[in-house]
Order: sequence, then C-alpha cells, then structure tokens
Amino acid sequence: MLCRIGDVEIWRILEINAPYLPAKDLFPYVPNVAELIAAHDPGAICPTSGGLILPIQGFLLNTPSHLILVDACVGNHKTNRYPPWSGRNDSRFMASLAAAGATPSDVDYVLCTHLHTDHVGWNTKLEDGRWVPTFPNARYLLPDADNSVFSKMASDSYTESVLPVIAAGKSEMVTPGHQLGDYVTLIDTPGHTPGHVSVLVKSGAAEAIITGDALHTSAQCWHPDWHFTYDTDPEQAVNSRLALLEAASEADRRVLGTHFTLPSIGRVKANGDVFRWEEDN
Ligand SMILES: [Zn+2]
Repeated sequence: MLCRIGDVEIWRILEINAPYLPAKDLFPYVPNVAELIAAHDPGAICPTSGGLILPIQGFLLNTPSHLILVDACVGNHKTNRYPPWSGRNDSRFMASLAAAGATPSDVDYVLCTHLHTDHVGWNTKLEDGRWVPTFPNARYLLPDADNSVFSKMASDSYTESVLPVIAAGKSEMVTPGHQLGDYVTLIDTPGHTPGHVSVLVKSGAAEAIITGDALHTSAQCWHPDWHFTYDTDPEQAVNSRLALLEAASEADRRVLGTHFTLPSIGRVKANGDVFRWEEDN
C-alpha cells in the first residue's frame, strides 16, 4: 500500500518508470530547466538521455464503499505518436493491480483526471480486434469539458480508449465538485486541459490530493509559474497549480504527484511566495 488516508487505502498502480522527453522540450521557456529541476529533485533527469523521468501511474482507492481507479495510464496495443508508448504489450500495470489485491472486475469506477493519452489507455483492451472496456463492471467518469473538446478532434487515443467506453454505455460525464461516495471529490484544476480535475480524498481529519497533470514535477512547487508545453491554457494552468498548492499546504494534505519521481508522495509547504516539496521518507 502506498498510504492510508483515514478509512481509505491508496495503492500505486505503476505502468512505466522511464525517461520521457528532455526537460528543455517540456518547459521550453525556462532557461536551464534541467539544472533547476535537478537541484530540487536530483534523480529526476536521466544522466544518459537527459530525459525527465516521468512515471506513468494510476492510483487505486480502496474506500469502504468503492474501488476506484484514478487514471488509466497508456495501455497495451495503442496507437501513439510517441514511439515508446505505441503498440506496448506489457504486464506491469495489471501486475500492479493484482499486487493491490484487485482484479479488473472488482473496479467500481475508473476516473480519468483528463483525457490525454497517458491517462485513458487502460480504459480499454483489444479483444478479437475490437476495443472493449477493460473493467467490465466499472462506470467510467470522464471530465465533461474535456470530452466536448476531445470528441471533436477524434484522435487515435480518443477513438481507441474513450469512445468505446461511451459506446458501451459505461461512461458518465462529470464536472468539478462531483462527489464520488463519501470520500472522493473532484477539484477544478483546468489549464492543462479544459476539464482537468484533481482528486481530493478525505476521511475524518486526513486528506490527500492526487494532482493529475496540474503539476508534472515537484520542482513546480518552487516554480509554479513554469509553463508546461502541453498545457492548453498555460496561464490558467498556473492559477490552478497555485490554488492546488495553496490548499494542500493550508490543510496539510498528503500530495500524490501523478508524474512526480517515485515515491511521488509528500507534502507541500508554503515557502515565501511559492512552495517547497517535502517527500515522504
Ligand atoms: Zn500525463
């Protein structure tokens, strides 16, 4: 188990832990960004490729009432413009789910923080040449504002990983503020995508926030104004990031950084006008 928040167990469902694109391509307007990231998070830059280490993971929330998967990673057999994510055939995601004591049929909800390719992949699997829901008993919760935009673009990712769960009648479009049972609330963090949500877990006095892609590296706690190249509205993303960090520090929430280097869990502390990241030991 990654951590316990009151009555809720949170398990890491890790699919990939590898270097992604170079930091200078991900934050193109930030001079010496790789050095700045490395100063805060020494293991974050791959010494051979210069790529930012970007874990691809979901989180499984085992609440007293529901089993909820937050984010569905890249998936197998998918079409993807980024070669390492294309046509994968890998067992790590499913092994991780099994290690958490769950099978795909146990999952009650799959919640996508947004509809990018590395958050929707395992929504579906290829069966006899057709994309079918991987989690046969789950409702799939998809941000409404993302679906409005992504359905018009009809990308491979949408066609392979989102449309089939809608066609199967298993989806529900959700908006920020949506509550899922007694423990989980969707927090409005637009900017990376129009409908992006982060996920607040609350049980008694204990609270945790799953960032999704409101941040991509813990270095953004010190530098919340950095523009990430795939943020669709970078200024809106900065405002969302600041609000998330402020609330997390005020309420002393555990923070689970979806793409932060492992262990991807810690706390955010106010640090002058910005914040600092304190990783759990
Ligand atoms: Zn992502």
